[in-house]
Amino acid sequence: MASLPFILHYRRTKTYNAAKKLFVKILYATSEIHPLIKTGGLADVSGALPAALSALSVDIRVIVPGYRTVMEKLADASPLARFANPFASGEVEIREARLPGTTVPILIVVCDAFFNRDGGPYQMPSGQDWPDNALRFGLLSYAAALLASDRSPLDWRPDVLHCNDWQTGLAPAYLRFMPGKTAPTVMTIHNLAYQGNFGSHLVGPLGLPPHSFTMQGLEYHGFLSFLKAGLFYADRLSTVSPTYAREIQQEHLGFGMHGLLHERRDVLTGILNGIDINEWNPARDAHLAKCYTAKTVARKRENKRALQERLGLEVDAEKPLIAVISRITYQKGSDVVLAVAPEILHEGAQLAMLGSGEKEIEQALAMLAERHPGKLSVTIGYDEGLSHLMEAGADMFLMPSRYEPCGLNQMYSQRYGTPPIVNATGGLADTVVDASPENIAAGTATGFAFRNMNYGGVLEAVCRALDTYRDQAVWTAIQQHGMATDFSWKKSAREYLALYRALSSRQTV
Ligand code: ADP
Repeated sequence: MASLPFILHYRRTKTYNAAKKLFVKILYATSEIHPLIKTGGLADVSGALPAALSALSVDIRVIVPGYRTVMEKLADASPLARFANPFASGEVEIREARLPGTTVPILIVVCDAFFNRDGGPYQMPSGQDWPDNALRFGLLSYAAALLASDRSPLDWRPDVLHCNDWQTGLAPAYLRFMPGKTAPTVMTIHNLAYQGNFGSHLVGPLGLPPHSFTMQGLEYHGFLSFLKAGLFYADRLSTVSPTYAREIQQEHLGFGMHGLLHERRDVLTGILNGIDINEWNPARDAHLAKCYTAKTVARKRENKRALQERLGLEVDAEKPLIAVISRITYQKGSDVVLAVAPEILHEGAQLAMLGSGEKEIEQALAMLAERHPGKLSVTIGYDEGLSHLMEAGADMFLMPSRYEPCGLNQMYSQRYGTPPIVNATGGLADTVVDASPENIAAGTATGFAFRNMNYGGVLEAVCRALDTYRDQAVWTAIQQHGMATDFSWKKSAREYLALYRALSSRQTV
């Protein structure tokens, strides 16, 4: 065993200081995490990014609410600490467990009165928001802030608190008004459309000082806004793609926050999400009829046949097959897909759609499918297995989102040799290299990006893709380039680490 003088000497060395700096400590606050609780993309990021950071030697712990389903899945969690519930009678407990399938520690905020219920994380079984959401996520924010302060009941103190979306937006505000030393904060926007706006009468009950309720604080058009609080008080802001980081500073995509985001543009960065390259791997995917790699991409045709058979489309290897998998919403441009579909079929392509969402569009799509048997298939619902087969069996993937913070399917489709056709917005603009003549010549093209998100713009891009498809050599090059692109979490994790390092060298708890 090393002697005490040696240890003391070692602790004064550069090596020790470098190692200490390497092990940056992060508290990652989130309201959802795959595979414990999921309603959207935030859960996927929270499930993957901490593990990727952990692989880079980051000491990261994730704080989540103790929803009933989380408690059931982590029944062996061990108690760590307790503190008085600031918003209701009784105590709140922090328990620790590991995120299943990883070594990442999870800190669970156990408060039965707030989280131990049936229904979703944000909504009652009836589909309405829980009436006490402000207090529930106020508590999550408060617990995260407490653990990032020198009043923490734990020995472990983070160098940086990383907050995600409105549900953790009050944490930077709590830290700003807490006496003593506090950790600096990062606030990440995964979807600016959800803001957590509540009545102003909650400022006091949530323990926030009255003077914070102004435009230069957490007020948003007369409401107390959790997201605005985060965007205003956090030290650094980030979102999930560089293009979206620029777009949200403009009125048409800023959801009312563009002024503040523009003002704070010097601390706002865009870091692309990664994808799970093990789950989405055409070389080893149990949902496929035939697995393949970039070298054996011709084997896609067996998946195309399987897909055409499964969906009742004419089995025809020559007909280009276009897939659409998405929530059926205005954001995803589903209304434009509906309008342009007959013309796409007229051009000789087949269309396979999977998704659910706005009922009117769902019904119109289903009726259209009845009028075009064998050519158009519409599956309403959520089907993970089918989505994998569609990525593998289709020739191209259509994703004309009106806005897209990052987007995943365009990355999955490139990995599956299914060039995407996308509106050049947000993460779509950052992840798809357009098959322009120059990019084709340079060997960098991976898909088709268009700029006019309307009937004409979508149709023109689809026709351009169909023309290119006829040139087998060019098409194969586009497929293979997309398949070779690195969409793993490794790159994103390094960028987050650089962000944490920049902050943690400034101040720590
Ligand atoms: P968003 O999070 O805005 O809905 P993303 O492209 O970021 O869009 O992620 C959507 C994820 O959900 C993707 O993994 C996509 O494949 C999946 N998905 C969406 N709708 C369906 C569906 N009906 N069936 C299966 N998977 C779906």
